[in-house]
Amino acid sequence: MPNDILILVNNTSIYIHIPFCEKRCHYCDFNTYSGLDYLVKDYINALCQEIDLIGSVCPKDFLIHTIYFGGGTPSILPVEFIEQILNHIRINFRLADQIEISLEANPGTIDLQKFISYRQLGINRLSLGAQSFDERELALLGRIHSKDDIIHAVEWGRKAGFSQINLDLIFGLPGQHLNNWEKNLLSALKLDVEHLSLYGLTIEPGTIFSEWLKAGKINDISDDFQADCYELAGELLAQNQYEHYEISNWGKRNEQGKILSCRHNEQYWRNLPYIGFGAGAHGFVNKLRIANVLHPRAYIQQLKNLRSLEFPYSPATIESRSISKIEEMNETLMLGLRLLIEGVGWSDFYQRFDEDINLVFGEKIQALIDKGLLEWVETDQKRLRLTRKAYLLGNIVFREFV
Ligand code: SF4
Repeated sequence: MPNDILILVNNTSIYIHIPFCEKRCHYCDFNTYSGLDYLVKDYINALCQEIDLIGSVCPKDFLIHTIYFGGGTPSILPVEFIEQILNHIRINFRLADQIEISLEANPGTIDLQKFISYRQLGINRLSLGAQSFDERELALLGRIHSKDDIIHAVEWGRKAGFSQINLDLIFGLPGQHLNNWEKNLLSALKLDVEHLSLYGLTIEPGTIFSEWLKAGKINDISDDFQADCYELAGELLAQNQYEHYEISNWGKRNEQGKILSCRHNEQYWRNLPYIGFGAGAHGFVNKLRIANVLHPRAYIQQLKNLRSLEFPYSPATIESRSISKIEEMNETLMLGLRLLIEGVGWSDFYQRFDEDINLVFGEKIQALIDKGLLEWVETDQKRLRLTRKAYLLGNIVFREFV
């Protein structure tokens, strides 16, 4: 049965970007910086100003049902800064009673007291960047924490009262064997967290890994090995009651049978609105995709210009693109088909666009069905989903809807 599928246009999410890390990991190409500690205070003040500005012009029927602190390393911040940001959100926006507030934490930057404070602030979901339980792999990745730090982070999270904890893990590392990956999975399973996000390593331009690859210090990624890692994960997690609900994400079910998914990310996959605050943050709201200036220094500078703008623009906006109906329909399929159980519902699509999905995309859909990559299933409604065979071939499907 699909997981809590309710589409409300004004059910909106907030993303907060914290672009600071203690040290850049060797594989990381995110918009994050180390050595800029002296900017943190000004950055948080600018962020709160952006929240105030957008909040002051945000339509009052917007109901925020998820907030996500991502980065970067949000847990690197003193708790007072997280509190300051949440206070500004609470003053400016209407929050849902059952709001999900997630925070990404690096196991090398936290302690029990920090987690207790997070809970007191209303944060109710932790996403821990574990990546590996193997000390050699953690060093290769350039992580600042050990295996024991991950174990302590989960223990402290539980002690602080978190009942929703995610671990991120990376597979397909240079020099990794299938048994190393299996050990990582078994270590994660032992911690009995509610949610696991598993990503195949990609070597991105500009990273230390890409330099090492060019210099012949590491081997290139093997697609076959990554596929083996993915298959193994699927088998092991299914045996341990994790539901594979999105291409890279697995969640346990609660007592009511609901998958303990990441509701914030579901907002993206359902192609529903979100407002992004901070350097490099993106938003999708009022049929506009907008993006903020990347560097925290430029962001702070732009926010000095405290003019009120039309919603959802802020002084930090550097890009804005209006999304046509056909683009939005394509994106809804491209993103929604990542949801392996939910897929894209025929009725949901009709309700949202006043269009029959088969009349708009019938030929493409049929061609992918003929290739064995898509299927229609009957659940609460007719749902278009990836077939099992397509889990590893998702990109062939998604590129049809770009
Ligand atoms: S902690 Fe995360 S955001 Fe920071 S450098 Fe490492 S991978 Fe990138």
